[in-house]
Order: sequence, then structure tokens, then C-alpha cells
Amino acid sequence: MMLKALRTALPDAEYMAIAPGRVNLLGEHVDYNGGAVLPAAIHRTIKVTAKPNSNRLVELHAVDLDESTIFSLDQLALKQDIHDMPMPGWAQYPAGVAHVLQSHGYPVTPIRAAFTSNIPMGSGLSSSAALEVAFGALWQEIGGWSLSRLMLARLCQEAENLYVGVNCGLMDQFASANGVEGHALYFNTHTLDYHLVPIPDDYWIVIADSNVRRKLTHSGYNDRRAACEEALAILQKDLPQIRTLADVPPDVFDQLAGNLPPIVEKRARHVVEECDRVNRAVILLEAGDVRAFGSLMFETHRSLRDLYEVSIPELDRLVELAASLPGCIGARLTGAGFGGCTVNLVEASATEEFITRLKLGYSMATDRTADVFACRVSRGVDAYPWNWNTARMEVEESG
Ligand code: ADP
Ligand code: MG
Repeated sequence: MMLKALRTALPDAEYMAIAPGRVNLLGEHVDYNGGAVLPAAIHRTIKVTAKPNSNRLVELHAVDLDESTIFSLDQLALKQDIHDMPMPGWAQYPAGVAHVLQSHGYPVTPIRAAFTSNIPMGSGLSSSAALEVAFGALWQEIGGWSLSRLMLARLCQEAENLYVGVNCGLMDQFASANGVEGHALYFNTHTLDYHLVPIPDDYWIVIADSNVRRKLTHSGYNDRRAACEEALAILQKDLPQIRTLADVPPDVFDQLAGNLPPIVEKRARHVVEECDRVNRAVILLEAGDVRAFGSLMFETHRSLRDLYEVSIPELDRLVELAASLPGCIGARLTGAGFGGCTVNLVEASATEEFITRLKLGYSMATDRTADVFACRVSRGVDAYPWNWNTARMEVEESG
């Protein structure tokens, strides 16, 4: 379905790039506090096809929105199309990537491109990072130069931070670029080191989209960040050696917590304990103790709800319902909060029934409909030459 529309939009495409969305299993709101996170790339992707242009223009067609735009590679800083009108919001992601690549000296080829995606937009599964990473990999493939996946992720993050103007951490782009089938990525956002952690295949990751689109995200996010900075500055008076909140062990935090204003203490406590949970989680997963890992997911949800205060009633309902269903060993809100999705860990044999019952329970409790789907853990971005007439079947089928 997705692919048919792409083929119609650009039948003479010569390149294809595919980048996955991601779900963060544990480690929420710690990426801007120097903590480690545990994302996995998921089998929901953005697919971009492209053909080089002979002028200096980039012509983009967003198939899912049925919108198009054309802009020049020679005046990207203006964020305008060729008619001097503001570029559509969605085009700023690819344009931002082009701008950042050029400013770092990587030649960006003018293209005609079309893209489509089955990652829900604005639900916390990082459709934005997938969009950036797909275009970054595409331009790399066409340009014949090569970046490490980490560097690709960093340049895409730079595009989102500086061009689109969203102050996101590196986790999303990193997961979309580096995903490995069947594995979560234990990624230290301070040192940028990472290693793979296996997800046992007798459990499924099930995502439930509350269909509440995030509200208050910007202000909510900014004041959580400000509280973390305030906590760090106060704690550094007693602990001059700490560089981030992730450096503070929970027992040390307990001793100094009284120095912090009450709200700041709650926010910082979430971060300190969440960083500790991620480190414990990795040990548990590596030892094959998935159930104990699942309990940490429930703990994280409570902490996001009560301490960091970024949950909403709909997400709390989804987690409570999940906890009551057979085979579910962990559930929590995932992403920034204030809307979006929960992530659930469910025994493979119970997954089908879990999905049916979660949907039903949610619509009875809230009068809303949740999209609930199981997803495989997928590999990171890929880009290659493409010809619709000889298209690779496995790619066709993954649509
Ligand atoms: P998230 O990354 O959690 O999905 P964001 O708000 O960061 O949410 O990014 C969503 C934005 O990315 C959309 O508003 C849109 O501009 C762009 N985007 C994502 N997917 C698509 C798509 N399939 N078509 C067009 N634009 C998209
Ligand atoms: Mg995003």
C-alpha cells in the first residue's frame, strides 16, 4: 500500500532510503541529564525514494499529507520555498539536514524525492528523527561520501535543534541510525558509548497509541529541563565533581534532597532514580530476567506520573489496564509524555488477546480509540540504489 503510492509519486526513482522509528524501553527524560537510555528501532519506517535533479533544487512530495514543496540548496538558511514563501513545517526536517550537511562540508545532491511513513506523527515514536535520518542516509548514498552512523545521527540532531528549533537529545536519531534486529541499544548520552542488549523473542513489544496528541509539550519540556538544571547547580555546591544528574547515586541524592525546593526535588529524584533503573535493567536483561525488567517499566511509569508529572489520565488508564491483563509483564508511557504512546512487554502467546482487550478496555474507559500494535525490533537506516522494475521483494513486503 505504502509502496504503491511511492511508486506512483516517483516512478523513475533511482534511490531508496528506509529509516525506522524508535521506542524507548527505559530511561525517560534522562537523555538531557547525561543518563543512559534503552531505545530500540521498530518495524515502522519512513521510506524515501529519490532521483537526482540537474538544477540546484530539491523537490519534495510528502505522500501522506499530499503536499509538495520546492526549495533551492543555495538559500537554505531562509527556510523558504522557491516562491519566497515559508517552507511547510514538515519540509524543514529534510531541509535542515541538507543545511547541516552542507555546512559541515558534505555535498548535497539536488533531488526530486517522495516519502511516506507508517510511524504515527507526533506520538513519541520519533517520526521526526526517522525523517531526518532517512534523508541524511539518502544524501550520503547519492553523494558517495560516508559518515559513521553516530556522526549521521549527530548531524540530524543538529538539524532538529538548530533548523527546526526543537531542543531534542541524541537518542532518537541515534536509535534510527543504529538499530539492530532483536536488540535494544544501551546508549550513554554523556560518553556516546553504546552496546547491544538482547530482547528475548518469547516476548513482544506492544505499542499503544492513546491518540491524545501531545499538548503542552514545549512549555512542559522546557520547565522540566530548567528544574533539572537548577537541581544540578544546587547539588554541585556539595558535589563539585558531578557533571550531570546521572552522576549522583540515589543514596547520595537522598542525603542532599532537603537542599532542593520541593518541585525541583521531585523532578531531580525521577532523573536520579531513572538513571539507576536503566543501569539495573541492563544487568537484568543480560541475565535473561525479563520479568524483573518489566517491573522496572512499571516503576518508571509511576515515577513519570508522580514525580516528573508528565503523564495524563489516558496514559495512566492504558498502563493500569495493561497491568491487569494476562501475559503483560511491564508497561509505561514512552516518549516525552503529555500524550502519545505506552510501551508494553507481553508474552508472545498472550499478545493477540492482550491487544484486543487493551483496545476494548481503553475505549470503554475513555471514549477514545487506541491504536495498539505489536512490533518487531528492527535494524537501523539503510539506503541504496533503486529501480522499481527490479525492486527487492523483502523491502516491498516490509511496507
Ligand atoms: P515525533 O517525532 O514524536 O513523531 P515530532 O513532533 O517530533 O513527533 O515530529 C512530527 C513532525 O515530523 C510532523 O509534524 C511532521 O512535520 C514531520 N513528519 C513526520 N512524519 C511525517 C510524514 N509521514 N509526512 C510528513 N511529515 C512528517
Ligand atoms: Mg520527534
